[in-house]
Parts: sequence; structure tokens; C-alpha cells
Amino acid sequence: METTKNKAIIIGGGLGGLFTGAILAKEGWDVEVLEKNRTIGGGLQSFRRWGMSFDTGMHMLVGFEPGGNLDKICSYLGVLDRIEMRKVDDDCADEITCAATGKTYRVAQGREAFIESLAREFPDEREGLERYVDHVYAITDQVGLFYLRPYDYDSWQMIGDDFTIPADEFIAMYIKDKHLRDLLSLRSPLFDGRVGETPAYVHSIINTLYIDGARRFVGPSQQLADALAQVIEENGGKVLAGAEVKEVEVEGKRITAVVTADGERHTADAYISAIHVGSMLDLMPEHAFTKAYRKRIDAIPNTCSAFTIFIKLKPNMIPYINHTTYVKRHDESVFDLGGPQDWPQGLMYMTPAQPGQGEWADRMVITAPMTWDQIAPWENTKHGHRGGDYLKWKDEHTQRLIDLACVSLPNLRDAIAEVEGSSPLTVRDYYGAREGAIYGYRKDCRDIMLSHIAPVTKVQNLYYTGQCLNLHGICGVPLTAIVTAEILLGRNYVINKINQHYEATAAKA
Ligand SMILES: Cc1cc2nc3c(=O)[nH]c(=O)nc-3n(C[C@H](O)[C@H](O)[C@H](O)COP(=O)(O)OP(=O)(O)OC[C@H]3O[C@@H](n4cnc5c(N)ncnc54)[C@H](O)[C@@H]3O)c2cc1C
Repeated sequence: METTKNKAIIIGGGLGGLFTGAILAKEGWDVEVLEKNRTIGGGLQSFRRWGMSFDTGMHMLVGFEPGGNLDKICSYLGVLDRIEMRKVDDDCADEITCAATGKTYRVAQGREAFIESLAREFPDEREGLERYVDHVYAITDQVGLFYLRPYDYDSWQMIGDDFTIPADEFIAMYIKDKHLRDLLSLRSPLFDGRVGETPAYVHSIINTLYIDGARRFVGPSQQLADALAQVIEENGGKVLAGAEVKEVEVEGKRITAVVTADGERHTADAYISAIHVGSMLDLMPEHAFTKAYRKRIDAIPNTCSAFTIFIKLKPNMIPYINHTTYVKRHDESVFDLGGPQDWPQGLMYMTPAQPGQGEWADRMVITAPMTWDQIAPWENTKHGHRGGDYLKWKDEHTQRLIDLACVSLPNLRDAIAEVEGSSPLTVRDYYGAREGAIYGYRKDCRDIMLSHIAPVTKVQNLYYTGQCLNLHGICGVPLTAIVTAEILLGRNYVINKINQHYEATAAKA
């Protein structure tokens, strides 16, 4: 006798929607993912320009070391063999140059090598560095979910008192030298780290991941989105692109249907929002949530946005660089976001790897954090109709990024064949994220509960997933996908399956 599957509709076909959908589909749910853009992927989506592909978001991958959380999750889902990655350089996973001093540091990966690469430059700080790294790992170790340990608490509780120390104070507990403190904050742009605000646990988890080892895609990041969609489809589900959810119908305390732009009603047992939580509330009828709840969500500050430029390089001008390079304008400043006059204070650039990658790079991506207020004059304009002053502003900011990058790559300007910029407006319109927030909500150690959002809601069959909960990025979002899926499948059900799969695979090897 045929049994009817439970059905889940997932709103948003980005990283969170696809991971949650793949888990549920693999575990017997009938999954339908609704994605507004013509191409699925969200932060994983790639686009083509000048005959080559560029990635819109995800450039750096972590957690894929053998036995790492992403390695285990992707192995269980069967997507590991469908994506191609390469490790960044062990002896220089990240490079940072300061424009003011001309000094460059090269930071190694691997726990011992990381300490060694910094202690070489700051020999008096060796002991402090060792104690700092021990504490970074100790904080991460308290997050059972990070190590896929069965858990008996709701999502990522703030376990230790040290979780909510401001990250800058946390570093200063161990490090005296202000240059080294600054250097240890190098990855702040990867989580919108802010002085006196960002909690030590965010700094620690991200740094643990990068110290353990970073990778990058070979070819477009789209390959992971496509691999996850395949898992959903192979298990009988559907992934629909060009299906923007415009309206959610709610009766009593339950969703009865979601309506897409073409007017079609889609119904299911469970509805999972994998979009910005604020944007989801905009789709819900007024009566679905109390005013107090909406007010609380609206009060959570968003993370910064970003201005990115995509470059086609002339042949044989810029070498392929197998790590991320950071350039900052000033000495002794943790990556500042900068205002309209002094933007950018810093940037990151990458030469994405291609299949059969040779000695020279053919493309480059440069990105810098940017606050939403910088594009305020055009916030009510639409793509293609933003006006000449916007295009002028965009071009000027493109040139500013190139100027700063030239500190590290003096021949960059001559090497550019084509360049195109993308502002926070693109991020907002493209991902549907309020204020073009690149990492969801900000976490503030002075009020840590403000940004805490539970995956269950007062609407009985509506659940949240995605980067607005817990932590963003390639590690945080899949871990939250597990938390959300386990609400429907049972606590620790997925974690146990992942671990069993990993042990069985390891035993076979
Ligand atoms: C420029 C940039 C660089 C980044 N670099 C990295 C990196 O190197 N490493 C890393 O780990 N993380 C990086 N991130 C962060 C990472 O991309 C995000 O944390 C992650 O993609 C968030 O996943 P998500 O599913 O929550 O949201 P998204 O990936 O944004 O997915 C949301 C999806 O929902 C869709 N959607 C929105 N509204 C609707 C609607 N009404 N109906 C249907 N669909 C809708 C959107 O189109 C989108 O596809 C970067 C982000 C940006 C923007």
C-alpha cells in the first residue's frame, strides 16, 4: 500500500532552503522549494559575464576538512562527490597588506602552523597566542552542534560566560601588541565584526573553521546549489525557479497556502521560510503575528551589505593566487566599515579557481563591506532605472576599490579587460534581504537575546531556517538546516544519521 508522504514547502532556494530541503527529501518528505530568481542558489548562485562565470556570494569554504562538519553533512547527503574544491595554501591561507605601512602578513592554516606564522612576526606574544587559540577552540567546543554531537537543548544556547565577551576584548585578554590584535581580527569582514559589539563566540567559531582549513570551489559555486537540488529531485521533490512567493494565506494559527507570482496556490503540511525573517513577515498577513513580535523582529539590526566588483583580466598579467588577500587602509584599525568619504577602509580580493587552473588568473572578485545608508538616495529605485547619478557613484566606488587593491597588486589597473560593480541594492533585490544584509542579523553581546530567533513560530506549521538564525555562511546555515529539519523529523534524528553514515564510510575506507 502506498503511504502518503508529509509535504514541506520551502520558501527560498538559497543555501538554507536547499540544505533543509535536501535533508527532508532524503528522510522521506515530499519537498517543494520555491525560489524567486530564475536561477536557484541564493548566495551560491553564479552568473555569466563576458563568457565566464562569477560567483555572487560564496567564495570561501570551511568545515570540509576530513571529519569536519560540512564534510560529514555533505557526505551523508551524497553531494561531496558532485562538487569540486581545492584547499587554499597551507602556508598562507590569508594574506593582509596595510596601505599605510606597506607591511604584509601571511597567515598559515592548521592550528600549529597558524600560531607559528604569527609568532614568527611577534615572538614575544607566542605564549599569549597559544592561550588565545586554546580559548578559541574551547569556546567552539562548547557548541555541540558544531561537532554534530547529539544535543538536548534548543539550537545554539549561550553556554559559557566567555561566549558574550566582546571579541576585541577577548583578543586583548591574551595579546598585548596592537598590531597582532588587529591581525587576529583580520576575518572580521567575514561576519561584520564590530568593536565592543560582536561576541567572542562568533569570532571563535569562524576562526576555528578557518584555522582548521579553508577551501574554494573549482569552477562556479552554483555546483553546490545544483547538487543539493539533485538530491531533492532524486528523492521525488521539486525545486522551482522563477517562483516568487508573493502572499501567505493564514487561517487561525496555520498557513493554508502560499501564493506565487503567477497566482498559483501551493499547499503543504509544513512551510519553511528560508528567506530573511523580516522579508518573510512582510509576506504574512497582519493578523498572523502580534504587533509586539513584528516590532521585536524589526528592531534587530542587520549586518552590513557589500560592494563587489567582478573583473575579467587580460591574459598573463595577474598570477592565480590560491588564497584570499585583504588590503586595509590604516594601521591599527580593526576593519572599519568606513563612511561615504573614506570608503573603503579595507577590501578582500580573490582569483577564483577554474578546472585545470594554470599559472595565470583570468578573473578576479574584489569586495568590501558597505553600510546601507551609503545607497540611501537610490533605495526606492529599480534595477535599470536608478539614474545617471547612481551610475556615476557606482563607477567612482569601483575605481576606489581598484585603487586600494593596487596597493597589493600594482599592475592591476593595466590588467583589467572588463569590470562591473554590484552595490548593496543588488544584494537586497537579488537575495530579498532587507538592507542588503549579507549575513542576516547582527549579534550584539550587550543584548544577545535581541538577535536570537527560534526556528519554531506562533504560526503552528511555519518554521524558519537560513542565516538569520544562529550563524550565517557555509557552516552556520547547514547546521541550522539540521536544527529546522529535526523539528519535523525528531531531535538528533539527522545528527545520528550523519554520524552513522560517516562511521560506516570510514569503516569501509
Ligand atoms: C557578497 C557575499 C559574499 C559572501 N561570501 C561568503 C563566503 O565566502 N563564505 C561563506 O561561508 N559565506 C559567504 N557569504 C554568506 C552566505 O552567502 C550566506 O550566509 C548564505 O548564502 C545565506 O543562506 P540563506 O539560505 O539564508 O540565504 P540566501 O542564500 O540569500 O537564500 C535566500 C533565497 O531566497 C530567495 N527568496 C527571497 N525572497 C523570496 C520569495 N519571496 N520567494 C521565493 N524566494 C525568495 C532569494 O532569491 C534567495 O535565493 C557571502 C554573502 C555575500 C552576499
